[in-house]
Amino acid sequence: MICVIYLDNAATTPVSQEVLDAMQPYFRDIYGNPSSVHASGRQAKGAVERAREQVAQAINAKPNEIVFTSGGTEADNAAIIGTAIGYKEQGKHIVTTTIEHHAVLHTYEFLQEMGYEVTFVPPGADGIVRVDDIAAALCDDTTLVSVMAVNNETGAVQPIGEIGRLTRERGIVFHTDAVQAMGLLQIDVDALGIDLLSISGHKLHGPKGVGALYVRRGLYWKPTQHGGSQEYKRRAGTENLPGIVGLGLAVQRAVEQREARYEQITGLRETMLAVLRAGVENLQVNSPEGAVPSILNVTFPGAPAERILMNLDMAGIMASSGSACTSGSLQPSHVLVAMGLGEECVRSAIRFSFSGQNTEEEVRAAAEKVVEIVARLQRR
Ligand SMILES: *Cc1c(COP(=O)(O)O)cnc(C)c1O
Repeated sequence: MICVIYLDNAATTPVSQEVLDAMQPYFRDIYGNPSSVHASGRQAKGAVERAREQVAQAINAKPNEIVFTSGGTEADNAAIIGTAIGYKEQGKHIVTTTIEHHAVLHTYEFLQEMGYEVTFVPPGADGIVRVDDIAAALCDDTTLVSVMAVNNETGAVQPIGEIGRLTRERGIVFHTDAVQAMGLLQIDVDALGIDLLSISGHKLHGPKGVGALYVRRGLYWKPTQHGGSQEYKRRAGTENLPGIVGLGLAVQRAVEQREARYEQITGLRETMLAVLRAGVENLQVNSPEGAVPSILNVTFPGAPAERILMNLDMAGIMASSGSACTSGSLQPSHVLVAMGLGEECVRSAIRFSFSGQNTEEEVRAAAEKVVEIVARLQRR
C-alpha cells in the first residue's frame, strides 16, 4: 500500500473531523430554509447567524458586515465588481498587483473590458509588493486598491497594514484577498484599514464551495447577485446551510489555534528545508524571508517540475507546481514570472504547502524522497 503524504494544502485542505461533525445535522435533520418563518426555518436561520458571528469575531468585524458566498472566488468577484460599480461616479481607475490570484486578476481584466482603467503593480524580486509602488500608482480618480494578504504560490506576506493606512488617508477603498492568511496571520480589519476582505472555507479545513466577504459598513458597495433578499439583500440565493455552519466553525478554530499551528508548521517547513538543503545541488528558495510557514516554493535546477511531481505522485506524495488553477494548463506561474525568475527557474519550481494535519515524520519522508528523485533527474 502506498502511504499518502499530502503537501498541497494551499490548493485545498481536508475537512477536519470536528467541522464535518458540526455540518452533518444540517444536511438531513435541520434542513429548513433560513428564509422560512416556521420553526425549521428559524432553526436554520439561527445557525447561519451563529456562523456570521464566528466569522465576524475572527476578523474584528460586526456580524452584519459579513456576507456568505460560494467561496474565495465569488468573494473576490463580488468585492471588486461591487466596488467598481458602486464608485463609478467617483472614478474608474483601480490599482492591483501582478501576483494576485486569478480570481482577482481575471476580474480586473473583465473590468478593463468594461471600460475601467486598471494599474497592475509588480512586486520586488522577493515577491513582495512595495507600498511606494502602490502609492505611485494612485491617481485622483482611483477608487479601489486590491492587494492580497499572503501570496498563494510563494507565501510572501504583503504589507497590507501600510497599504491600508495609505488608502485610508486617500479615501480609497481597500480590498484584500486573505484566503491564505486566515489562521496564520492576525487579521483585524480595523487595525489594518481593510474595507473588503475575502476568505474561503476549504483552505482552512472547512468545506469547499463556501466563503465569506467582509464589507465595511458605509461603503457604496453594490451587490452583484440578484434575486431573493438573503444575506440582508447583499447576496441572493438560498444559503449553503451546512457549508456556512462548517465555515463558521473552521474559521473560529483557525483563529483560536493560530499561534500553536504557526509554530508547528514552522517546524515542518524547517525540516523540509533542512533535508532539501543538505541533499539537493543548487537548491533555490523562491519564498522570501518572512513568508508564512505553510508555503515553501523552491526551484530544483535542471529537474523539470512536471517530472518531479509525476515521480512524487507515484510515491504517494502530493505537491504542486504553482497554483492549482495554473497547473494542468501548462502556463508558467505568473507569480514567479512577475518576480523576474528566468524561464528555466520557473519550469523547475515546486510548491510544498503544509497544514496542521501534517506530521514531522511524513514531511521528513517526503523531503528524502524529493532529494532522491531530483538527484536522478538532475543527472540526466
Ligand atoms: C484558493 C484561493 C482563492 C479561491 O478560493 P475558492 O474558494 O477556491 O474559490 C482565492 N484566492 C486565493 C489566494 C486562494 O488561495
